[in-house]
Amino acid sequence: METIKLQKTLLEQGIELPLMEEFYTIQGEGFHSGKPAYFIRVGGCDLGCHWCDVKESWDASIHPLTNSDQIVENAGKFPSKAVVVTGG
Ligand code: SF4
Repeated sequence: METIKLQKTLLEQGIELPLMEEFYTIQGEGFHSGKPAYFIRVGGCDLGCHWCDVKESWDASIHPLTNSDQIVENAGKFPSKAVVVTGG
């Protein structure tokens, strides 16, 4: 019970995030299309857009809580100047 309470606190404070995936890629759309970017996909979006193409990200409970400092450190290993934090 205490573990769940601690995890909830860390999540609410943004110390840990339900990380679905993170990867280095080339932006495929938008103003920065064609430029390198590091993508961080976080679970738990509750907006429910009907056009969302990553609905499997919605359920935060199925994505591992990951320390946000670790996520930042991972992003820093790649040469891109852009980081995209997204849900879908
Ligand atoms: S992840 Fe993005 S596209 Fe999907 S429901 Fe949330 S805001 Fe909408």
